[in-house]
Amino acid sequence: MASLTHALTAHTRLVGIIGWPVKHSLSPSMHNAAFAARGMDWAYVPLPVSPKWVKEAVLGLRALGFRGANVTVPHKEQVIPFLDHLTPEAQAIGAVNTIVVEEDGRIWGTNTDADGFLNDLLAHDVQVEGEPVLVLGAGGAARAVVYALARAGARVTIANRTLGRAVELARQIHMVLPGASFRVVEFSAESLTREAEAHTILVNATSVGMWPDVEASPWPSSTGFGRIKVVYDLVYRPRLTRLLRDAQAWGCRVIDGLGMLVRQGAESWRLWTGQVPPVDIMRQAVEEALREG
Ligand code: NAP
Repeated sequence: MASLTHALTAHTRLVGIIGWPVKHSLSPSMHNAAFAARGMDWAYVPLPVSPKWVKEAVLGLRALGFRGANVTVPHKEQVIPFLDHLTPEAQAIGAVNTIVVEEDGRIWGTNTDADGFLNDLLAHDVQVEGEPVLVLGAGGAARAVVYALARAGARVTIANRTLGRAVELARQIHMVLPGASFRVVEFSAESLTREAEAHTILVNATSVGMWPDVEASPWPSSTGFGRIKVVYDLVYRPRLTRLLRDAQAWGCRVIDGLGMLVRQGAESWRLWTGQVPPVDIMRQAVEEALREG
């Protein structure tokens, strides 16, 4: 794991990550590597916060002179009532993954997952405007992905095991992006086989395939990938999931979730520091931390 290369003093600027638990988070390695690479007197600390202390933790950032924090599960929605305002992204997605504390004490929240996802698609030269994109999942990550895709002009179809959650997600995003196009379909082998013929991009925003259940796939084994050309899996542990291996064997181009992780973090780093983030350094640090387990 990347370690701090400088002594902490009263001048050190602090940021951190609020979650429960946070011990597996790759963010401290990623952000501290970026501060070290730029020779900045900043430190990013893991902040395990029990659900009963969320309010105190958020207000405590201001009291303790933090510049901000990332927020991870299960607090992404719970922090909202304690912030002075939200960006349109955080409002639309209904979750905050980045908090910024201003010099005058104002404290606001945003969500960089949507930009992280879109910036990673752009970095891979994947254009989504006008494309039919099938998204699996309707949880927190899917909300950011669906919002990002709809804002970028994709034609989005959502399939989720719990159909009602997909319907609710489509309804919520449609309220903020009324011109966007959405469909909701069943998460069954029969339905996904049909949808594979009508979509060019598939995004897995479910947690299926994530370590330790690495042989699981959200895509039915009996179903080919039809006309799908690109498969993006938000899961990054492991990098090459069962879904991506199957899609690769079918001839699809595959992209893992590491790029989104790095780019959402890079966007938070930019908001706190006002500087251009060293994305390559951040990626290297995350890859190293993943290899070390
Ligand atoms: P979440 O809110 O708990 O949502 C989980 C989603 O997975 C729900 O849609 C759930 O469906 C579905 N699901 C779970 N088990 C399933 C199963 N056995 N079969 C079918 N569907 C199943 O989680 P999240 O925060 O959205 O995270 C989802 C994944 O994205 C995680 O692996 C997370 O690590 C990853 N992620 C990656 C990044 C990145 O930067 N790359 C960022 C955020 C999240 P139901 O609604 O039916 O329960």
